Amino acid sequence: MHYRRVVVKLGTNLITGGTDTLNVEAMTNLVNQIANLRRKKIELVLVSSGAITAGREKLGKVKERKDIPYKQVLAAIGQNHMMNTYESLFKAHEMTIAQTLLTKTDLSDRQGYLNARNTLMALLELGVVPIVNENDVVAIDEIDELKFGDNDNLSAMVSNLVDADLLIILSDVAGLYTADPEMNPSAELLHSVDKITPEIEKMAGKTRNKRATGGMGTKIEAAKKATASGTTVIIAYGQETDVLEKAMNGKKIGTLFSTNTSKLESRKRWLLSGLSSKGRLIIDNGAVVALTQQNTSLLPPGIMEVQGNFKRGDIITIANSNGSKVACGIANYSSQDTNKIKGQNSDSIMEALGHEYGDEIIHRNNLAML
Ligand code: GLU
Repeated sequence: MHYRRVVVKLGTNLITGGTDTLNVEAMTNLVNQIANLRRKKIELVLVSSGAITAGREKLGKVKERKDIPYKQVLAAIGQNHMMNTYESLFKAHEMTIAQTLLTKTDLSDRQGYLNARNTLMALLELGVVPIVNENDVVAIDEIDELKFGDNDNLSAMVSNLVDADLLIILSDVAGLYTADPEMNPSAELLHSVDKITPEIEKMAGKTRNKRATGGMGTKIEAAKKATASGTTVIIAYGQETDVLEKAMNGKKIGTLFSTNTSKLESRKRWLLSGLSSKGRLIIDNGAVVALTQQNTSLLPPGIMEVQGNFKRGDIITIANSNGSKVACGIANYSSQDTNKIKGQNSDSIMEALGHEYGDEIIHRNNLAML
């Protein structure tokens, strides 16, 4: 198995078995598969939809409203119910889960992006399984009648956040067909897609169904985003026996979207993409060697000078004592804070600042060498 870090997106129809309630049997089956992969030391992040349906189930028979605030109410009620179910299913495997509610707005903000990334990375390091959903209660920007959030696209953003090797989108369709299989009996399943061209996007169409938010359209959007940031994507039928194991082992299943870019390359591109750097750190030769040859994070002792005004989460460049650029990355401390702790031992950060975000001025995960 060459996939080490995997994001698995579970659609509403999958965890409800296409009904109006959570389907514990279907969820157990999926959790068992995930636990098996965890035992093989695969790092996993789940992105699970289903809060709204779970809320409807919990509330029982009340007059249904179609408006968005009501859906937000249902999500608030149901998220808890859904997480409780996951909690007890993972407990049977003695595995710890973490609720991670994100909005796309959080992620488009640098600090939000950094905080979410650091939290998810730390959870993975601890061997915990994060379960992500959109924070529907506050997610307003994406909401219109057709599109209340969209966990397909969210799963692609999460794959980018954690540098996932593979994103598996499980739903009630087997993958991408040459035409809508419900309308056209000669539609064929595509087993692999090398590049998401306009023709491919056209094949996906705009199909949606009653309970799920996205159709194939949002899945292809997600596949496009994820493959562009170096993550391979598989869209497959979630009820297929051992679907995750098969996907991980390269069995012919669903539709596989390959990526032609490495995660490192794409992170570098992302870090360098038209974002003006807000400041510069001049580092000593020891730190240059550590960064370039030992792949370490940038720590306070190696920093000689802080230039410019930057906030935590801003992109900054790193230069050697001659002023030549060696790297760029996301600052974990503001320029003011960095000035106070430069040249010092990481142990004294707390004392110097009264707060701390870890030992690193730039974590190696957020660093692109030039
Ligand atoms: N966040 C929604 C829920 O949990 C689902 C969004 C989606 O399926 O894309 O119910």
